[in-house]
Order: sequence, then C-alpha cells, then structure tokens
Amino acid sequence: MTDHKYVYEFSEGDASMKNLLGGKGANLAEMTGLGMPVPQGFTITTEACTQYYVDGEAINDSIKAEILGYVAKLEALTGKKFGDLDNPLLVSVRSGARASMPGMMDTILNLGMNDEVAERFAEKTNNPRFAYDSYRRFIQMYSDVVMEVGKSHFEKLIDEMKETRGVIQDTDLTAEDLKELAVEFKAQYKAKVGQDFPTDPVEQLFGAIKAVFRSWDNPRAVYYRRMNDIPGSWGTAVNVQSMVFGNTGDTSGTGVAFSRNPATGEKGLYGEFLMNAQGEDVVAGIRTPETIDQLRDENPEVYNQFVAIVDKLENHYHDMQDMEFTIEEGKLFMLQTRNGKRTAAAAFKIACDLVDEGQITSTQAVAMIDPKQIDALLHPQFDVAGLAAATPIGKGLPASPGAACGKVSFTAEDAAARGKKGEDVILVRLETTPEDIEGMHYAKGILTARGGMTSHAAVVARGMGTCCVSGLGEVSFAPGGQSFTLGGKTFTSDDWISLDGATGAVYGEQIGTVPAEISGYFGRIIGWADEVRTMKVRTNADTPADARQAREFGAEGIGLCRTEHMFFEGDRIAAIREMIVSKTVEQREAALAKLLPMQRGDFEGIYEAMEGFPVTIRLLDPPLHEFLPHDEDDIVALAAEMNLAVDDLKAVIASLHEFNPMMGHRGCRLDVTYPEIGAMQTRAIIEAAINVQKRHPEWNLVPEIMVPLVGEVKEFVFVKNIITSTADAIIAESGIDLKYLVGTMIEIPRAALTADEIAKEAEFFSFGTNDLTQMTFGFSRDDAGMFLDAYYDKKIYENDPFARLDQIGVGKLVKTAVELGKSTRPDIKLGICGEHGGDPSSIEFCQQVGLNYVSCSPFRVPIARLAAAQSALKAQQA
Ligand code: ADP
Ligand code: MG
Ligand code: MG
Repeated sequence: MTDHKYVYEFSEGDASMKNLLGGKGANLAEMTGLGMPVPQGFTITTEACTQYYVDGEAINDSIKAEILGYVAKLEALTGKKFGDLDNPLLVSVRSGARASMPGMMDTILNLGMNDEVAERFAEKTNNPRFAYDSYRRFIQMYSDVVMEVGKSHFEKLIDEMKETRGVIQDTDLTAEDLKELAVEFKAQYKAKVGQDFPTDPVEQLFGAIKAVFRSWDNPRAVYYRRMNDIPGSWGTAVNVQSMVFGNTGDTSGTGVAFSRNPATGEKGLYGEFLMNAQGEDVVAGIRTPETIDQLRDENPEVYNQFVAIVDKLENHYHDMQDMEFTIEEGKLFMLQTRNGKRTAAAAFKIACDLVDEGQITSTQAVAMIDPKQIDALLHPQFDVAGLAAATPIGKGLPASPGAACGKVSFTAEDAAARGKKGEDVILVRLETTPEDIEGMHYAKGILTARGGMTSHAAVVARGMGTCCVSGLGEVSFAPGGQSFTLGGKTFTSDDWISLDGATGAVYGEQIGTVPAEISGYFGRIIGWADEVRTMKVRTNADTPADARQAREFGAEGIGLCRTEHMFFEGDRIAAIREMIVSKTVEQREAALAKLLPMQRGDFEGIYEAMEGFPVTIRLLDPPLHEFLPHDEDDIVALAAEMNLAVDDLKAVIASLHEFNPMMGHRGCRLDVTYPEIGAMQTRAIIEAAINVQKRHPEWNLVPEIMVPLVGEVKEFVFVKNIITSTADAIIAESGIDLKYLVGTMIEIPRAALTADEIAKEAEFFSFGTNDLTQMTFGFSRDDAGMFLDAYYDKKIYENDPFARLDQIGVGKLVKTAVELGKSTRPDIKLGICGEHGGDPSSIEFCQQVGLNYVSCSPFRVPIARLAAAQSALKAQQA
C-alpha cells in the first residue's frame, strides 16, 4: 500500500485540479462545490493512468483497493448498491483528459446492469421500457468501447428489429422488443468476444476503467495529441458517476447547451434537447432535437433553473460554457461544463464581449485565444453546407491552411497557364521543386504525394498563403503522369478536387469556398497582444508582394529574405545559369553584372514595402545545380540558348553533381569559392539601401547582411571581409552615412558550439532551425516523412521536429549559442527564421531563451504576434 491518493470524490476536488482530475472531473467537482445539482461520483486521477502504464497496462492492487473504497463511499452516499436488486447503483464511466480530446474512449452509461438487475429495475420503476432501454444501451456501449465489437453490429440488430416491428423511431420499440434486443446483443457479444457478457458490476467497472486508460494510447488519440502538442505523459482521468435518467418517459430528457453561440459568438443561450432520451441521442441525430427555447414552454421551472445555472457558470468561469444536462422526471441535473470550443470568428467576438462586459481584462482576452485558430481567419474556408455533404477520399499532412478547390493540374507550367486564364487549378505533384514556383503561385492549392511539413511544397505554400496538403502517399500517378488514383477514383486534368489545408483532408469533388474575413474584434485583440508582447515579430519574405502582405499582418521587419527565390523568375534564370557555367572569373563577373540591377531593384522594392523596418538579407544559399535543368530536352534547349555544346553543358552539370547536396557546396561555401558572388550581392543590397534612403530621408535604413551556413569563425571572417570591403567603398562614394550589420545564421551545430568565437565577429545571429534540426538529428527534412510515422508508432518521437522545435536537443544548441554569443557580445541581436518561428510552442521557447525577435511566413505573422504575447504573459507569471 502506498499513501499516494489516486481517487477523489467530486466534493474533494475543484477546477484548479485539472492536471490531476482532467477537465471533466475538475469541472464536475467545481460545480459540486458551487452547490449545483450534479449526480455524485468520483474521479480516478491522471496519475493512476500513468501508473497503469508503468505497471505494464494493469491496475495494481493498491489502486484497485482505493477505487473499491470509493465505490463503497458512493454506495453510502446514494443509498444504492452495485448489483443490489432492490436498489442497484448504476454509474457512467467517462474519460476526461486535461484538454478535451476527441478520439478517446466513449462514455459507458448504465454500468452495473445485468439480467436480474434489469428485471427488478423494470418492476420497481414500473417502467419496463425504460429498464430494458437502459440495459440494451449498456451492453451496446460496453461491447463497443471495452471489447471493440463495432457499433454497427448492434445498430444492424436495432434496424432489423424496427423493420420486423414496422416502426421508424427507436422510441416506438416496446419494452418486450428492447428486452429481446438485450438478449440478441449479449449473443452478439459472445459470438464476437468468445465469452459471456460480464454480469458482475465490479468486473464491469474495472473493464471500463481499463478501457479508458487504454484509449489514451489508441492511434486516433495519439494522432490528435501530435497535432495539438499534447504530451503523452499527461494521461487521462476516469470519472465514475451515478446515473440520472433522461429516458424514463416524457417528463425526462437530455440536452446540450452553449452559453453563447459557438459559431458566431452571439450572446445568448444556444442549445438543443430531446425528451425521453439518454446520453448522446441529441448529437447522434437519432431524432430531431428541439431548441432550448422550447424547453421554456415545456417546463418553465426547469428552464429557469437552467438559465440561472448557466449565468452562474459563465460568471464563474468568465468564459463561454459548453454544458450537458439531463432532466429526470422533472428534475434538472448538470453533467458537464467546460469552456466551449468555438470558431475563430466566435473566439474573437466572445473575448471582446467579455472584456466589454467587465468579465475579463484585455490581457485575459489575449491569453484565452488559441493562436492556431487565427489561420482560419486569414485563409478561404469551405462553405459549411458543401463540406457537410462531402466525404474525404484521403488524408495527407495539413501543410498550409485554407481551403481550395479546382481542377487537377499535373505540371507547374500547366497550372500557371490555366491559372493565368482564370481557371481554378490544384497542382498535384509527387513533390515540388524551386522551378515549380510560378505554377504554385497560380494554383489555388497544392497536393503532393511526398514530403513532410517542411518540404519545399509546404514551406513555399505557407509563405504564399496557399493551401497545401503534403505527403499523401496514397496518390498514385499513372505512367506519363497525366492521371492519378486516390480513394479508388482516377483523376485527370478535367476532374475537380478539393483540399483542406487545415486538416489534410482531400475530397474528390467540387466544394465551394468562402473568402477570408477579418473582423474588428480580431484587430482589437491583436492590438492588446502587441501591448504585452516583448519579442518583435518579423517575416520571411522574398518579394515586395510578400513583404507588403506581411506588413499588413503587422510584421515589424524581415528576418529572412532569401535572395535565390528571385533567381527563378523570367530572364534571371538565364543570367544565373550563365554565371554557373562560366569558366573564368571574368565570365562570371560579366554574368553577375547582369544580375546586379535585377537584385538591386528587388531589394529596393523590399525596402520600400517594409517602410523603414529592418530587413535581413541572406546571401545565396542553395547548391548551384538547383538552377540547372536535369531533363535531356531542357539541357539541349538550354545549350542552344547559351551557345554551348550540349556535351559541355552536360559536363558542367555533372561536375556540380553532389552525393549529399544539403551538406555540399552551398551557403557561405559558395562565397568562399566564388567571392564575386558575395561581392555582387553586397553591392545590390547596399546600393538599393542608398537609393531608398535618399528617397525616404525620414527612414533610417540599416541593412542586415546575413551569411548562411557558417560553421567556423574563419570562414565567416573571410566572407565578412568581402562584404565590408565592398560595402564600405560604395558607402564612402555615395556620401550617405549608411550603417549596416553583418551577421550569420546559426544552423550548423558547430556554429552553435563555437558561438562565442563567431559572436566576436558577427553582429547578429539568426537561428536557422530548419537546417539546425536536420543537421542535429542527422536526417533530412525532405526524407524524414518516409520514416517518421514509424517513429510515432513506436513512441520514439511524439512530434515532427521540423514543425515543433525539439527543445531538448536542438533547443540546447540554441540556448548554448545564445549564452556563448552574449558572453563575447552582450548586445548581440538574436532571432529565429526557421519554420519554428511561426509555431506557438516554439515561440514560447524563443521567449524563454531570450531571443529579440521571431520571423515567420507572412500568413503566420498574426499567429506569432499573439503567441509572442502569450509567451510574454507566461514569462511574467513564472
Ligand atoms: P463526451 O466527453 O463524449 O461528451 P461524456 O462523458 O460527457 O462524453 O458523456 C456522454 C453522454 O453521456 C453525455 O450526453 C452525458 O451527458 C451523458 N452522461 C454521462 N454521465 C451520465 C450520468 N451519470 N447520468 C446521465 N447521463 C450521463
Ligand atoms: Mg460530454
Ligand atoms: Mg539554412
């Protein structure tokens, strides 16, 4: 026996004990404490769940004894007893984790029934219909939930029964019918499970409790946790509660209600109920429920009591409540309350209304909104009716949010051509490459068979605010790539598909979309967020259009401008290819001279769009072969265009071949081998700044030049010298006193480990956590999708480290680099520009380690502003 307490009566707990009692249990306890009519019961803690796993998926004897002690207490409190024929205790067994989690175990009602209990129950209540309805429900739920005999087997038996009896509604079945169903159900159980249905209530109870614990680890729950950052270590609690019955007849019923409209946020009670019903009947759509207003007519006394309770709960929790209640023979019981789930639009309205009503402060309003919900406000969504009528045919990774619908397009060229004509197309590819950029831009959505959350398609789509579903391996392309099959259907360029980038669902049909709508409520909340935030929020933007979009979303600078993205457009690619195939420095300089005015123009556009806010520009990063074609036809065409022998061009391409390009000739290594590239880019950056500074004397431009992929201070110094010698000469000549900074990405573990040395030379660090993650883990983000699922299944990883910063490993390198960097340059500017810069939990980490800013794609800027505010609030509280 340990003296650790694993079970709490409702009267022993309260709302502050969510971690231990789960959300449902803590709120049942709180309502009990508030004197509300809650059927009595107890909660088995989340720690008992954890212990269950520690004990090898078993409930140990001491916890068992403790539970049985609480059963005895409940029996004493209610005056009922398990298995007592005259006065049987019947209970519900309900799961409840800290955060409400779909995918976990369903509730079991009426536990404690068996043949004898049902029979006497029928006599005693003088209501055999009710007794056998409860009994058959129990068998059905227990079989489904505890023994995983599918629901459908039982529904089929009900349907057959209704057909033989010639009735439509479940409620039209007689007591005899239901009694017979109970017999059929038990036979079904025996056939499927190979054992008799358990008659002993204690055995039933432990079966149900174990099923709740097991459900914590079922694949649906594990998937949900991964998508929602819920750690597996939390565990779930189990609530055992004495039953109240909404199915005793016409004076009983059950319902659900929200204290405000969860879709719009409109104030006022909103809900539904059904008379003579139990449990999930209301939501299951078995009969059409009545609206809560009708309860006023039906039973004004109960209605008024309920309204009073709702008001009290809202004023108590200071948030919109989602409640479940049951009426047993005219008597009201509360069965659940929680802060209600709501749409993004409703979340903002409710938070503002609560502030205006004096219920909460503006800071509390900032804290109560889930930053991830903002996505839905900034992107198109499916229209509700269309979505309700559609069934997904596949599910990939939710790579970039929003809803999109269009006809299939198989190549970037086709997507661009059709998109330009105004056609809605969805680009469907095995994976995307930098060459696809234009087609991606014109596509309404992007679907890839390969690649994870940080694949090229995912990153670029998020940057553009285009919906993207990635890594849907079931997409199988026909040879020639002019059709694909998914979910048993073949799609050609004439077929419609629809993508939900927020869930990863793919539909093989046309579903209408509605545009994004940003409300005034949104503006108020984000304004309050900015008041409490201490980290700046910048954006990753490569074009003036992206920069302007990000400014509209409130970006306070650019944390990462990737210069190479500009090279794929129009005649630039020709110039860059010319540079690559150059054989001498002179040839290369001549080609670079063609690129110079284009880059300068781009940078001017970006400075203009950022209106004087800081701009970090990264020197060329990718390996050069990315700019050259690899198909025979394209190579022949390019050779002709460049006046080169095909073989010569092929020789260049072959010479650029790398076994592992991610770890090859890229980043600052390019500048070490070809200093003239860095010199040209510096010239473009500085000249553009001078030109824009002249046009806007009121701005104080300080360009930040960032050297990628540094691992050794000497290579940084080498590149820095190219930068400063070029820049200083231009500035001296211009007569303008332009300041600029030279800093580096920290994206190679060695750079993090030697950050004190590097910080002596670098004026800022920007953590490139995409590369830093792949170099630290030693696997590529483009390939990780192929095996990460196995790692999730085997519980080795809980999350995709490319989407959510690995705080233990990669985070340690970040922390180390921050500390070392500050040791030699106390005022060093610190930021993050990896994909993690837009992920709320990673943003919280950035706050903790003391970064000055986070930088993320334009469409994530509002999320980051809110998440940064919440991180600041948490830091204040800590
Ligand atoms: P979920 O989390 O899926 O809502 P719940 O545990 O809340 O599951 O229970 C499902 C349904 O069963 C709800 O409608 C609830 O009101 C009902 N229910 C649960 N416990 C009882 C009880 N002790 N008496 C009557 N109905 C109950
Ligand atoms: Mg519920
Ligand atoms: Mg990088």
